Amino acid sequence: MELAAALRKLRPQLIDQAVRRLARGEGLRHTVESEVARFYDLLIESVETGSADWLYPLLKEWVDDRSLPAGDERATLLPVLLAYKTTVWALLPDALGAEASLGAMESLEHYFADAGHHLVGLEMNAAVADVRAQISSIQDNLQRLDESKSRFIAVAAHELKTPLTLIEGYANMLTSWFTNEQRSRAATLLGGIANGTRRLREIVDDMIDVSMIDNNLLMLNFQPVWLRRMFEIAEGELGDRLAARRQRLVIDEFEDGGRPTFADPERLYQVFMNLLANAIKYTPDGGVITVRARPLPGFVHVSIQDTGIGIDPANQQSIFEKFGGLGDVALHSSGKVKFKGGGPGLGLAIARGIIEAHGGSIWCESPGYDEAACPGSTFHIMVPMREAPPEDRSSKLFGLTDEEVEKMGLGKR
Ligand code: ADP
Repeated sequence: MELAAALRKLRPQLIDQAVRRLARGEGLRHTVESEVARFYDLLIESVETGSADWLYPLLKEWVDDRSLPAGDERATLLPVLLAYKTTVWALLPDALGAEASLGAMESLEHYFADAGHHLVGLEMNAAVADVRAQISSIQDNLQRLDESKSRFIAVAAHELKTPLTLIEGYANMLTSWFTNEQRSRAATLLGGIANGTRRLREIVDDMIDVSMIDNNLLMLNFQPVWLRRMFEIAEGELGDRLAARRQRLVIDEFEDGGRPTFADPERLYQVFMNLLANAIKYTPDGGVITVRARPLPGFVHVSIQDTGIGIDPANQQSIFEKFGGLGDVALHSSGKVKFKGGGPGLGLAIARGIIEAHGGSIWCESPGYDEAACPGSTFHIMVPMREAPPEDRSSKLFGLTDEEVEKMGLGKR
């Protein structure tokens, strides 16, 4: 008997048995029945025309409607297909006799294999689409989180600045209030307040800098800059701290030919001061900090080397992330000199932001972290060599409109 005709004859039994296999409860059977009938009708159609394509739209519906948990690798519909096949296999021998049923199975196998192959392809595509959608939603969330964090920092930093200004103002006024005898005692107390507020102001300024960098709002004011001169000024400013730690700052070879480059002097100075302050902090008493510079095509390569505790290679990237400080928070001190006195962990993030806004790069190198052996760290900075300021001289707020700048609460441009 022709295979399609045989299947058609078997149709009621096929449906009945497949429904039993696929749906356990009576209630479910009723809903499943029409689906099962559809499958066998399409299978018969496929056999008649010699193409399994008839089954494809149904398989697509299965995959689209599946309510299996995404990401579960067992979440495949192949067992369903297998149940349909097993049902046919079970009924064929009785209907066609042993020998004919073998031939029928052989030709039907082709349609089931084809359908299985197609089903796996559809499921793989669906799984890839699922994962893509998940990744993109995670990325969206991360971006939103990052934006709100930056906004929070910007607003918080500005809100902190106002009371700080008040404290500073009142403390200054108080100084003139005391009689001569009271003044020396008061001077100590007021000095304490002044130190505290200065440090707080520095932290708030760092927070503002970080949020400006995150939001591409960093403004650069390009002027001719003599790098060596900058380190000499820094040396003067750091004299007390170096002395307190009995450290030496050596400004070594400077092969930049004394030529200036166009950069933002205040911002570059901020970077160098930060790196030097870190070198002081993370180097034991009596250590040496060496600064060198040499010209490279299009850049000046500046390096700041210390004889300090070093940095584990695993952390040499993350320290440039904001709040990327490695130290124990309990060790954080407001001192700028204290050995290993960790800060809020914004310095290197700001340094990287400033250098990258200049079109340069910054990285560090160290054999590893070892407080006993002190292998030292070297920070490398590539400062672009510019003969003139970049086109947009008035320094730009990268990619943002005036309204956006104001909305960020960072004032008028
Ligand atoms: P902070 O010093 O406020 O913690 P930074 O961003 O300046 O933050 O530095 C991040 C971390 O990088 C520091 O906590 C420290 O662990 C490490 N680090 C920075 N400079 C050095 C250095 N010269 N030697 C060893 N470790 C350093």
